[in-house]
Amino acid sequence: MVFARKEHEFLSEIGLSSRNLGCYVDGTWKANGPVVTSVNPANNQAIADVVEGSIEDYEEGMRACSEAAKIWMQVPAPKRGEIVRQIGDALRTKLQQLGRLVSLEMGKILPEGIGEVQEIIDMCDFSVGLSRQLNGSVIPSERPNHAMLEMWNPLGIVGVITAFNFPCAVVGWNACIALVCGNCVVWKGAPTTPLITIAMTRVVTGVLEKNNLPPAIFTSFCGGADIGQAVAKDTRISLVSFTGSSKVGQMVQQIVNQRFGKCLLELSGNNAIIVMDDADILLAVRAVMFAAVGTAGQRCTTCRRLLLHESIYQRVLDQLLDVYKQIKIGDPLGKGTLLGPLHTSESRKSFERGIEIIKSQGGKILTGGSVIESEGNFVQPTIVEISPNADVVKQELFAPVLYVMKFQNLQEAIEINNSVPQGLSSSIFTRKPEVIFKWIGPQGSDCGIVNVNIPTNGAEIGGAFGGEKATGGGREAGSDSWKQYMRRSTCTINYGNELPLAQGINFG
Ligand code: NAD
Repeated sequence: MVFARKEHEFLSEIGLSSRNLGCYVDGTWKANGPVVTSVNPANNQAIADVVEGSIEDYEEGMRACSEAAKIWMQVPAPKRGEIVRQIGDALRTKLQQLGRLVSLEMGKILPEGIGEVQEIIDMCDFSVGLSRQLNGSVIPSERPNHAMLEMWNPLGIVGVITAFNFPCAVVGWNACIALVCGNCVVWKGAPTTPLITIAMTRVVTGVLEKNNLPPAIFTSFCGGADIGQAVAKDTRISLVSFTGSSKVGQMVQQIVNQRFGKCLLELSGNNAIIVMDDADILLAVRAVMFAAVGTAGQRCTTCRRLLLHESIYQRVLDQLLDVYKQIKIGDPLGKGTLLGPLHTSESRKSFERGIEIIKSQGGKILTGGSVIESEGNFVQPTIVEISPNADVVKQELFAPVLYVMKFQNLQEAIEINNSVPQGLSSSIFTRKPEVIFKWIGPQGSDCGIVNVNIPTNGAEIGGAFGGEKATGGGREAGSDSWKQYMRRSTCTINYGNELPLAQGINFG
């Protein structure tokens, strides 16, 4: 079916139409759940309809996926890498359209939409190399004629539940690695970004089909909490990788733990940038702007707290307020736009509620603080002067609201940085080696991402991504994150004729 609006016609190039079935089950698109309409956050107009999955669709998909898992885990890892390489190439041919869709449906600006898809391509490249490096150790045995080694085997099925703000990059972080590790992937995308879930699935499964592989190696569902709950409870799913709020993540973890499943959590952040008295202020101001305003404050790594040394407090603040005046707000697909809308009208309401709470707790609005009257979900980029001890500062308000606060010395700044429940990303601006090494050391930042002279956001895929405390402790993407997607067997092989026991035990 054709699209009502001309500017949506490009979606047909990535397999979408005005009405779409939201589940990819054993090679077939089907869906028997409720119909939802995907809307453009910039004007709240409909883009297309999607039929979500029902629990019956889920069951059918999981049966096929379980069968596919038996085949996929036997494909040699470098051959699995070759499939992921082809997925990267297929994404390259659709980069512009997919990036545009991310921007249209999620509301982030176009360069960020394209960047999100590029991140998956980078993950594909990384995973191809990884497919030849899923190495275990050979360990010296204390017993004669014994060999000890580690084997890494696939888990079977990895469930991936994702959030609206990175509607496809997060499935890329998980799926690329899960696939080369020999697992099938079951993906439940965010309920408000179903078109991205469908378009991404089409690219991945197109490659599986071309290679005559069981299509259920990648199974995906559009849907909400009911499908998410089914994934959490499902004993066929060895690892549930959940990205979203700390509140929902904790619930999911409890369910997965109850059945002794593995859980990988990527939850809420509340990230700080510290600017020391010796910092390059121009650099810091540019970084803070990108970190606080980028993706309209809807990144898990968004800078929400700016900690300024008292001696440069006013200078940085003046420059920042000046830069904020120049932020171009508008259509995320428009040229030069820096700040698009919030994702939903509900997010806009929660911004308004947040501002009221901020004021009631002594926060002083220095700029912004209001919604922008328009058809879309636009709000003003906001800077608030507030005490680090205010309760509201400890929570993640998912909007472009930056709390500014003063400190006297490094110790105090680190204490403020670490004083929130979340522990995702953090950054310091300084040139002093002694400050840098204290910051990254045992008494420094307690976050999973600890940066120097760069913003809190915009991580590279080569490192392990994730955070501590209420952020959930998971690590995804690079480094040795792959180990979470496999099971490790310690194998001891006796190639002699005696039975010597470890620890010198003599038994009989
Ligand atoms: P959310 O917690 O509302 O939803 C996340 C996902 O969980 C969605 O797919 C949703 O449908 C599903 N879900 C909802 N209820 C469920 C249930 N009872 N059982 C199982 N699944 C359920 O989060 P959101 O609003 O989509 O995303 C924003 C949040 O995600 C922010 O807190 C942000 O910081 C966080 N986030 C974290 C990272 C990270 O890497 N740490 C990355 C992106 C987003």
